[in-house]
Amino acid sequence: MTKIDQVLALVRPDILALAPYSSARKEAKGGRVWLDANENPETPAAHQPLFNRYPEPQPANLLERLGSLYGMPVNQLLVTRGSDEGIDLLLRTFCRAGQDAILITPPTYGMYVVAAGIQGAKVITVPLVRNTNFSLDADAVLAAVTPAVKIVFLCSPNNPTGGLLERAAVMKVIRALAGRAIVAVDEAYVDFSDVPSLAEEIPANPNLVVLRTLSKAFGLAGARVGTTIADPAVIAVLQKVIAPYPVPVPVLLAALAALSPEGLEAAQQSVAQLIKERARLMAALPKLPVVKTVWPSDTNYILIEVADAARLMATARAAGIVWRDRSKDVSNTIRITVGTAEENNQTLEVLSRG
Ligand code: PMP
Repeated sequence: MTKIDQVLALVRPDILALAPYSSARKEAKGGRVWLDANENPETPAAHQPLFNRYPEPQPANLLERLGSLYGMPVNQLLVTRGSDEGIDLLLRTFCRAGQDAILITPPTYGMYVVAAGIQGAKVITVPLVRNTNFSLDADAVLAAVTPAVKIVFLCSPNNPTGGLLERAAVMKVIRALAGRAIVAVDEAYVDFSDVPSLAEEIPANPNLVVLRTLSKAFGLAGARVGTTIADPAVIAVLQKVIAPYPVPVPVLLAALAALSPEGLEAAQQSVAQLIKERARLMAALPKLPVVKTVWPSDTNYILIEVADAARLMATARAAGIVWRDRSKDVSNTIRITVGTAEENNQTLEVLSRG
């Protein structure tokens, strides 16, 4: 079996055999009079151009811009409703309910467990190593992988801890699981780091899937635009499972604008500004008596340890500031998003009250 055949053998057999829904717009090419999809020939409200027609299932112009943003050919991309949908698609495509499992490395992003729960997949956990800044223990992960594990989710940089997982450790897991499990690397925050995406490793490692999003660095959380990057054969299987029209026209327009030359320039400036603010917070936080630990951050948030997280959360709330209490993951920790300079001053002001 070739490498990719081994990966396809991990797909749920019923999904491999599934004849996907074939949308009118998928079949139509080069038409002039569109009478195939039961659309209204006009948009009654003049301020909503183009909304009467179904969008392309995977809009070619958006794929092209995402391809150049991520440095990947368009047949290796799937545009989804946020990367949350990418996570859900992976679960539904690879994990048979009641039989298969995923492996996660807590503390980490909560949606892997939710998507597993919805699909009826089991969850195996191998914690990140707290005393080395929540590093990945590749050997412990590999020792815990059973034949039931179809997907290993690794989040790098990790939410909520903020740090990158060491590339060598991640690659060790990917290579060791070749043909045995998908390794899904969630790079929602990689734009705030100074390392390249792991997507460049996909050609040599077809069991690697990378999740990206426009929600963070591009400020498009409200538009819901995620990208799953994978081997073309894996993308083709995910295409069977995704809903027919996952990119609504208004979302397409917003994403195209964000990925125009001006949009790219603006996003770059925004990321640079947030990184500058992150550095300012990282310098100020350790000096505050109430802050016991500050973990390094390659993201647009910082995890801190305090003596009494609940009390500080309440103090902040009374001042109108909402942080995220992560004490359930790591006791007495608060995750603080890097905001505007003014918002960050307010964060520091509340914390300096003690
Ligand atoms: N992955 C991680 C690690 C996240 O923190 C988030 C956002 N909370 C997501 C994925 C989902 O982001 P979106 O669906 O907006 O792309």
